[in-house]
Amino acid sequence: MTEDRSVTGAYVDHDLCTGATMCLQMARGGFELDEAGQSVFRPGGQWAASDLEAAADSCPMAAISLVRDPRKPGD
Ligand code: SF4
Repeated sequence: MTEDRSVTGAYVDHDLCTGATMCLQMARGGFELDEAGQSVFRPGGQWAASDLEAAADSCPMAAISLVRDPRKPGD
């Protein structure tokens, strides 16, 4: 997959997230589970844009939205 440099973060919809942890496996530094067992994005974590894209693609609940910076062109 070609990395999209415009991806600057992610948002997890807790109305959808079931804690399946696919996102943690795809982007280990990008997400963690909160006390309720739901995923939260780690802005200061060690992740690459391609990791976040893979996490969003892998989420069975489509709970992850990617945050994009329109000033950074995607590939
Ligand atoms: S893969 Fe989706 S449903 Fe599973 S923990 Fe991550 S955001 Fe939640």
